[in-house]
Amino acid sequence: MRIAPPDVLARRIARLRQAMANQSLDALIVTSLPNLAYLTGFFASAGALIVSTDLIGLIADSRYAEPLADRVRDWPAIRPTMLEPGVSFDTTIVSALEPLAGCRVGFEAQQLTVARHTYLTHELAKRGWTDELQATAGVVEGLRARKDEWEVERLRDGAARLSSVAKCILPKVLAGRTEADVAAEIEASLRRAGFERAAFDTIVASGPNAALPHARAGERPIGEGELVVIDFGGVLDGYCTDLTRTVVAGRVGTREREVIERVAEAQQAAFLAVRAGVAPEAVDGAARERLAGYGLADAFTHSTGHGLGLEIHEAPRVTRARPDHIEPPLAAGNVVTLEPGAYFPGWGGVRIEDDVLVTEEGAEWLTDVPRTL
Ligand code: ZN
Ligand code: ZN
Repeated sequence: MRIAPPDVLARRIARLRQAMANQSLDALIVTSLPNLAYLTGFFASAGALIVSTDLIGLIADSRYAEPLADRVRDWPAIRPTMLEPGVSFDTTIVSALEPLAGCRVGFEAQQLTVARHTYLTHELAKRGWTDELQATAGVVEGLRARKDEWEVERLRDGAARLSSVAKCILPKVLAGRTEADVAAEIEASLRRAGFERAAFDTIVASGPNAALPHARAGERPIGEGELVVIDFGGVLDGYCTDLTRTVVAGRVGTREREVIERVAEAQQAAFLAVRAGVAPEAVDGAARERLAGYGLADAFTHSTGHGLGLEIHEAPRVTRARPDHIEPPLAAGNVVTLEPGAYFPGWGGVRIEDDVLVTEEGAEWLTDVPRTL
């Protein structure tokens, strides 16, 4: 697994410090593991990070002694702390915060549980802290939404490999094979293509199951002439890519072909709407309008897309406007999926999904596989 070099990480930390300054924060406690990996190149199942104006304090447990030492060797700016035996992350965070008394310290409100927050504030108060920890939302996620060049290269590489897997697998989606059998072959192919793992449980949804956007792969044998929605992704160097194609096993019916072509058109309409500065809901609207023109508005039951990166679903969301959440305009460096669909309960469904890079002038396809039959 390739890890971002120190100069790339240093630029991410510099952007974070700027974002912290914009919110008048002297320090931020990072407890989201993808955020921690983004800022330090340290991938672990547990950990914490404290970033201040002059500190990058990385806390890990003894299982990660070796990766932690590697990180510090690669990038000496990191100040490592290994958990003492029997001492929790939160107790260690409190100790690490002691020199920051009197500073404005933020925490990730969407990540830290109420129980952990209560413990931290209680322990800090015992040590004489009078200032509360400041709730923040999406500070690091906002940075992650705009991929740096290093990340774009990882995603480009992942998308190219995912496309190769798709081209090899799609002709093998044959009547008589079970959904689970096809899914197993896809997941084995992902490994062979160099992916660390599947980005999520592979979806192979045939016949009436294709009408369920979140169907998994079951023991159902694929029937002759049925639509089959195949949605899968891989993780390469920590970065997720995501692709969906809908195929027909055997002879293609008129209605099946027509729905696939219309969904592909909707995806193209969304693609043409993508550009830095455009509201994500305008991209969603472009796909939705095209389907509505064919009377398929009600059949498109989910959002047009989502951001991709260290997580399979991250900012920005390409969705309808919501009263409780305003998504910022798209920016160059966003990487999003465009995945319109049309679903008909009891009959089947179609989804076509590709990954695109948002640029100043428009967008660039990262995945490349024929969309129609
Ligand atoms: Zn997908
Ligand atoms: Zn997706």
